[in-house]
Amino acid sequence: MTAAAEIRTTCPYCGVGCGVLARVEADGRVAVRGDPAHPANRGRLCSKGAALGETTGLEERLLHPEVRGSRASWDVALGLVAGRFAEAIATHGPDAVAFYVSGQMLTEDYYVANKLMKGFIGSANIDTNSRLCMASAVAGHRRAFGADVVPGCYEDIERAKLVVLVGSNAAWCHPVLYQRLAQARREHDDLKVVVIDPRRTASADIADLHLPIRIGTDTVLYNGLLAYVAEHDELNASFVERHTEGLGEALAAARAGSPDVATVAAQCGLATEQVRRFYELFARTERVVTLYSQGVNQSSSGTDKVNAIINCHLATGRIGRPGMGPLSLTGQPNAMGGREVGGLANQLAAHLELGYPAHRELVRRFWRAPRVAQQPGLKAVELFEAVEQGRIKALWIMATNPAVSLPDAGRVRRALAGCDFVVVSDCVRDTDTTRLAHVLLPALAWGEKDGSVTNSERRISRSRAFLPAPGEARPDWWIVCEVAKRLGFREAFDYPDAAAIFGEHAALSAHANDGTRAFDIGALAGLDAAGYERLEPVQWPATRARPEGTARCFVDGGFYTPSGRARFVAVVPRPPAHAPDDDHPLALATGRVRDHWHTLTRTGASPRLSAHVVEPYVEVSPDDAARFGLADGGLARVISAWGEACARVRVSSAVSPGAVFAPMHWNDRFASAGCVNRAVNPATDPVSGEPEFKHTPVRLEPV
Ligand code: SF4
Repeated sequence: MTAAAEIRTTCPYCGVGCGVLARVEADGRVAVRGDPAHPANRGRLCSKGAALGETTGLEERLLHPEVRGSRASWDVALGLVAGRFAEAIATHGPDAVAFYVSGQMLTEDYYVANKLMKGFIGSANIDTNSRLCMASAVAGHRRAFGADVVPGCYEDIERAKLVVLVGSNAAWCHPVLYQRLAQARREHDDLKVVVIDPRRTASADIADLHLPIRIGTDTVLYNGLLAYVAEHDELNASFVERHTEGLGEALAAARAGSPDVATVAAQCGLATEQVRRFYELFARTERVVTLYSQGVNQSSSGTDKVNAIINCHLATGRIGRPGMGPLSLTGQPNAMGGREVGGLANQLAAHLELGYPAHRELVRRFWRAPRVAQQPGLKAVELFEAVEQGRIKALWIMATNPAVSLPDAGRVRRALAGCDFVVVSDCVRDTDTTRLAHVLLPALAWGEKDGSVTNSERRISRSRAFLPAPGEARPDWWIVCEVAKRLGFREAFDYPDAAAIFGEHAALSAHANDGTRAFDIGALAGLDAAGYERLEPVQWPATRARPEGTARCFVDGGFYTPSGRARFVAVVPRPPAHAPDDDHPLALATGRVRDHWHTLTRTGASPRLSAHVVEPYVEVSPDDAARFGLADGGLARVISAWGEACARVRVSSAVSPGAVFAPMHWNDRFASAGCVNRAVNPATDPVSGEPEFKHTPVRLEPV
């Protein structure tokens, strides 16, 4: 057997979206290397990407449909799914069913799932695990820009003179982008890096300044920055006048709560000099990029935090030009693609608005759909509350593990256990969620499936198959379409391949765009299967008039609000939803470790990756360890009002007194009582619906 040719594909982990060259060796092993031609990574891969070849084995795979634990034919399983969904819809109405989907799905999978639920079933009860990572950034973009648009691109990081990482441990969570920043830092003495994070993470290793901000006070800090910029005459008056609206109200709110540097420092738990130095750097540096991620988004005031950051870029006119702008880093490989096709419960396809009758009618006609959902559906946390309350009679979970990943995970498990009918389509046989399903449908995994993803800089890349489909596993899009056909929608879901779905998605984006929306990939609408196969990475908008794509948006204004102006948002800081008390005096934040991904279903298969961190841990300051009688290396119970988990104690001065950190990856398959999300509170942001993973009052008890 000779080695196969290298196939160009995309890493299935984080939102950096690195290009990967993959090949099946003569002995059957999968070899991977970074694609030197891919603009996101230029040949680099991080530890997770480099170990992809170790995670393609079939040992853990779901390879055949199952009904209540017994192997079934596709025909029987699909017929049962369609029958139970049809019955629930007929008896209780379309809002009695729901899909919970995933940023791991390819755009084509996402597109048909959204089309089926919103256009043909007639409900908007489709939400995604992307709600857990970047919904606040989406909402902030829409409030400020009138559309969900990331203004800049990765190259801006290398062209900036100041890069601010706020709520982002990019060194572990977006490693290749961090490598690009670190290289630029080494090569350019005048590039400064500021890290704003309650913990001193690995990302602070290259920082000129680390601000260990008190959890939940980001809006105070950024309101103070807006007031400081105005006070020191560093506003870009021309940009503000020509391209924005609402500065007066935003500035008044900022000055009221954050009137001076000393007040800000006191509220944020920082030294006055630290805050002043950050403000001076920001105010005096023209080329500033702010990278932000879950530390900002996962908050009950996450959308306000996003807008507080964007306000400062608008006030200084630092947006859309090389080396400048706010840049939201998405957690998952295709969180952005899901946004494009309307994978969130409050969106329509192609960035159209569910709330606009004209948009609903446009989509209905394009799809030739019998009905289109009339109102937003249930967002992730409320969707599972509706399951618990018995309002959702049939639920289909695709490519995600909510029994581990959602907050208040014990309640989610109870909700699933009590649901009339739960379908899970996944590539893994045994997860905490598949154990609660009535029907399991085997899906293809990375390396086997074909489609596209969009990374954090709006770049669409192909994910290509280089492995045969194992067992009876099928693409997610095929599974959705087969159920749709059995629900009576044969013609609208009769696609020969992923290329045809992508073509329809691209055509809708162009058809829908009357000049008031950024998302337009009309240049790709006419691709045939061969053109789709050859598709090179391209950043949207990629219109028929501008097929080469667009690196930066808003270069000269042109925002998507009715006035064409960007909106400042007046932000009034709010504390986290639940304050620590005598019973639960510590603030728990959850996050990722460098070498693991989500709930370990893939990275847990690699001994090399598992060696980095072998078990769940909780990081606690020396002061708090002494206060709670905890020994470094011992075990602790992490106890909140919602639940508890068990973890190894790491005593570290990287966390401030009063704060603790725990990784979110572990679950009952990998460590008994290791699921820390059992303890995480289910509070959400009122605008975005994103959960507050970064602040749960807890106490620690030695085991
Ligand atoms: Fe994959 Fe992200 Fe690592 Fe790139 S940085 S190789 S996309 S995990």
